[in-house]
Amino acid sequence: MKLQTHKMTVSIDEHSSHLEQFKQFYQRLDEEGKTIEKLPRQQIEDYQLKAVNATLAHVWNENEYYRSRLEEAGFTEPKIDSLEQLSTVPMLRKDVIRGDKEKLLCVPPKEIGQVHLTSGTSGKPIYTSYTLADQYVYDLLPKYLELFKESADDITAIALPYEFALPGLGFQRLFQFAFGTTVLSLGKGGYMAPVDKSLDLMREYQATVLTTTPSYAALLAEESEKLGIKIGEDIRLKKIWLTGEGCSSVFRDRLEEWWGCEVSFFYGSTECGVIGVECSKQQGYHIMEGHVKVEIVDQDSGEVLPYGKTGEIVVTTLLREGMPMVRYRTGDLGNLQQSKCDCGITMDVLQLRGRMEHMLHLGGEDYSPFMIEHFLMEIPEVGLWYHLKLDDEVLTIEAEKFRTKLSNEQLAEKIQKHMADRIGVHCEVVIRDDIPRTYGKATRVFI
Ligand SMILES: [Zn+2]
Repeated sequence: MKLQTHKMTVSIDEHSSHLEQFKQFYQRLDEEGKTIEKLPRQQIEDYQLKAVNATLAHVWNENEYYRSRLEEAGFTEPKIDSLEQLSTVPMLRKDVIRGDKEKLLCVPPKEIGQVHLTSGTSGKPIYTSYTLADQYVYDLLPKYLELFKESADDITAIALPYEFALPGLGFQRLFQFAFGTTVLSLGKGGYMAPVDKSLDLMREYQATVLTTTPSYAALLAEESEKLGIKIGEDIRLKKIWLTGEGCSSVFRDRLEEWWGCEVSFFYGSTECGVIGVECSKQQGYHIMEGHVKVEIVDQDSGEVLPYGKTGEIVVTTLLREGMPMVRYRTGDLGNLQQSKCDCGITMDVLQLRGRMEHMLHLGGEDYSPFMIEHFLMEIPEVGLWYHLKLDDEVLTIEAEKFRTKLSNEQLAEKIQKHMADRIGVHCEVVIRDDIPRTYGKATRVFI
């Protein structure tokens, strides 16, 4: 018996769009007992080419901006003959759509069911509009039963913001409608979401799954100790999904140890939805190739890079009618590999390197903060809260002590030596005991 099903099927009467054809594709997979995750590459790529072309036709017919960009690039019809040819489609930069809620809209405004916007830390927000069918029909078409083991037996606590951006509500839909789990909407950072209440609710309902950010998973663990709630006894999770901030695998290992359960990464964005999900082998993110086509491009030239080369992550959404993103430059860095994963999933594997603007420029090299964190977290006496400050090419690490009798001086010396040995980076170290805990997005890098 299959444990997980897509619990609910929303039918929207007489609704039809360019995406209707894919209902049949996924229905056929269902009938054959398959998911897109393990299809032979050729079949995945055939599907992706069809879906990209359906999206190109949709934006050509329904959106002036997309159409004029395609025409400027020499397109006389909205069609590519191979996935490689996607590189001839113009890319979409964030600054073009910042503050403009209609530029990419491909449906009449009354069709919009939900608006999300990004936090807009750098200026005006980016508005993303979803139709009801985007959210409740098309987004739920591809199933990834190897990646998600959640079922109706689970109680999922969602400690992500429900306001403005996608994460809270997006996971809510996924867990309720796709897996049929009970959801505890803890939220995060809002005035209705105090940490003690959240932990109490997780204890009361015996949550089995937690979805949150890396820093908030650390904060919840810390606070549980202060409140006398015992992890492993009072709260027994079997799985944590981390999203929103990104972190290193060693930070994850520390969380796995603390929470006593498997911790996996989930990569997505408010504009693009889900992009990649880590399998139990924890070797990178499998690209959710039912939902998105991902390319890696050189951040300066825009040229598409081959497997293995690191560059900017560019996403084309495949199952959107309201506001499809076509070759959207995410501002995140990473590289792709063909899957050789033991899990059997054939979808490409992404190594995520973090936000472009967070790269630390040191001695002529760019270092990903995740990489610095990786080596910092190898030191067990260092706590999970830290800052990386870069000033005039000098890196200062501010760190806290964690369950150790080492003096501040001893720990500072240990960190300095470890960073020099492991990555050849000289750094200044300041040991603090007051690094601020945050309920919002953790700020760790100061450039
Ligand atoms: Zn895998």
